[in-house]
Amino acid sequence: MAPVVRFAPSPTGFLHIGNARPALLNALYARRERGRFVLRLDDTDTARSTAEFAAAIDEDLGWLGIVPDLRVRQSDRIALYDAAAERLRRAGRLYPAYETPDELERRRRRQLGRGQPPIYERAALRLTEAERAALEAEGRRPHWRFRLDPGPVTWTDLVRGECHVDAGSLSDPVLVREDGSYLYTLPSVVDDAEMSITHVIRGEDHVTNTAVQIQILSALGAPVPVFAHHNLLTTASGEGLSKRLGHLSLRGLRAAGFEPGAVASLAVLTGSAEAVRPVADLDELAGLVDLAHVSRAPAKFDEHELEPLNARLVHAMDVAEVAPRLAALGIDPAAAAPFWAAVRANLVRVSDAAEWWRVVRGPVTPAIADPAFAAQAAALLPPEPWDGATWKSWTEAVKAASGLKGKALFLPLRLALTGLDHGPDLAGLLPLIGRARAEARLRGEAA
Ligand code: GLU
Repeated sequence: MAPVVRFAPSPTGFLHIGNARPALLNALYARRERGRFVLRLDDTDTARSTAEFAAAIDEDLGWLGIVPDLRVRQSDRIALYDAAAERLRRAGRLYPAYETPDELERRRRRQLGRGQPPIYERAALRLTEAERAALEAEGRRPHWRFRLDPGPVTWTDLVRGECHVDAGSLSDPVLVREDGSYLYTLPSVVDDAEMSITHVIRGEDHVTNTAVQIQILSALGAPVPVFAHHNLLTTASGEGLSKRLGHLSLRGLRAAGFEPGAVASLAVLTGSAEAVRPVADLDELAGLVDLAHVSRAPAKFDEHELEPLNARLVHAMDVAEVAPRLAALGIDPAAAAPFWAAVRANLVRVSDAAEWWRVVRGPVTPAIADPAFAAQAAALLPPEPWDGATWKSWTEAVKAASGLKGKALFLPLRLALTGLDHGPDLAGLLPLIGRARAEARLRGEAA
């Protein structure tokens, strides 16, 4: 049976590099196994979810090359959660509890003070009808807890192997708030069951939820999907990546000029068995991702690796691939092919090409230490048309006339022609600069 996976972000912020990991691990799994990828917006937190963030999630996934086969949002599916909650109530697995957050906190501190684990000890289950009625008469509204079965919950995790969680060490989770709204736990289970999700691939921060969710699935009589809990990306110093790290948001990285292939490769290959390298093609990347080989240690994400990865991708790009972006940078389409060939090896980002285009078309303020030498070189410029061989024949002539060679010859010419002491091979740039500008610059004029 073809697998069905889902990526389930909450539209309460922009996706960042840490979210790109589960998004890609799911999408790549679906690609590799010819399955389906569902984008599910976990938007039951209506106070923090926005339509703008929802649209941004789709756009950012699209930038990475991920196009969902199906999109759903939980706010459209509340009736399903109501029905499931009702079934759990009838089965005696969902019970009302009336403690306020303050009461729970005091109780928790008392337990910790006595050296006991701070587990909810089910006082609400012992309330009599009369006590419940009295609490309701006081104006208290219940929240609803799922009654866990004590004992071990086990599953075979695609990343972590055999997993055991002792449900007796957990508090009965609250599934429904006082106002009737749902926390994440139940809707997620209901959707996974109702959409026949076969594989739940998500971060290892959900391992405990998985134990609870397996029990809820069983209580609802639904099949248990395969689980895979991948390691989380941390910063180089080991802290978790949070949504506040704005510069690591996918749109921030995109605005900074990074290629989706560089971002995707780093998000996926970090903390895997594969060496981190730029892989722009998602099918190829899918072939490299084996959940069984994802490391269990935290995956340290080093954003400084992005630049070299990006550069390697850019250096391998064909002009046809970048032509529209070069045009958008103001680069003359007629010159795009020779220009790209001349500069691409010097770029970290495609957008860096704009600076070299300025160097080609000017104005450039030449840097000239020896005007006599520069004038001598100007006088030796051959007539046009120029091509890739012009630089060599011209500099040979300048070398013969001046007696200079090596750096003493080439650096002053570069400084005069570009105003810079570094840059792309001048054999490629010189024909693009052209005779008129080259001559003016060698004579010390900004051109
Ligand atoms: N909305 C949840 C999260 O972003 C989804 C977790 C899951 O995949 O079940 O953490």
